[in-house]
Amino acid sequence: MLVFWDIDGTLLTTGRAGIYAWQDALRDVSGANADLESFDTAGHPDYGIARRLLVEHGGMPDPAASAVRELVERYEHHLPDALPRRAGRVLPNVRQILEGLSREPGARCLLLTGNTSRGARAKLEHYRLAEFFSDGAFSDGVGDRIAIARAALARVSRAEVAAAAGSVFVVGDTPHDVRCGQAIGARTVAVATGDYEADRLQAAGAWRTLPQLPPVTEFLAMLGDRELATDV
Ligand SMILES: [Mg+2]
Repeated sequence: MLVFWDIDGTLLTTGRAGIYAWQDALRDVSGANADLESFDTAGHPDYGIARRLLVEHGGMPDPAASAVRELVERYEHHLPDALPRRAGRVLPNVRQILEGLSREPGARCLLLTGNTSRGARAKLEHYRLAEFFSDGAFSDGVGDRIAIARAALARVSRAEVAAAAGSVFVVGDTPHDVRCGQAIGARTVAVATGDYEADRLQAAGAWRTLPQLPPVTEFLAMLGDRELATDV
């Protein structure tokens, strides 16, 4: 079983603390003082966010790749100091599910995220989830979420993919995550713990849509298509 995990809105919420890091980064690179509180970041890769920020708030109609990269690097620099500025949290049942999967023979968790690898590490370390993820695919260049999904699958050996046949899952909170799952032939578990309502996720074609991640036994039963043991 392979389980690819989105981060924001799925494993944890930073309370949009990352916005502070983007604001500081934008000021560093372009001098602009922007209020990004309502800027849509959900499900978008960091490099795409950076490019859009330079266009919409940085006075750069066609930013050079070097400017985008510089903005991302400044964001990564500011992010660890930004995270404690908002009361974020690990989302319900996440830690128990990751612990449960770590004990499941043949189960492996990887990241599949629009965060850069440095950004992802900062968030997972701040919320003490880093130990559950040794690998994954990130927004470390110009690729869109689909490209990141293909890169995530490429992190796994063919033998492992074959062994997991039918048991490859993407867990995420946006229609972008659902499309990621579809692009790599995975089943998507969509959770309405981020910016999207369950009906939007269902309409996008999620395999399962849940208001939040369920207790670990229920989650494992769902992925394993096992009947839930009933209490007698
Ligand atoms: Mg997300």
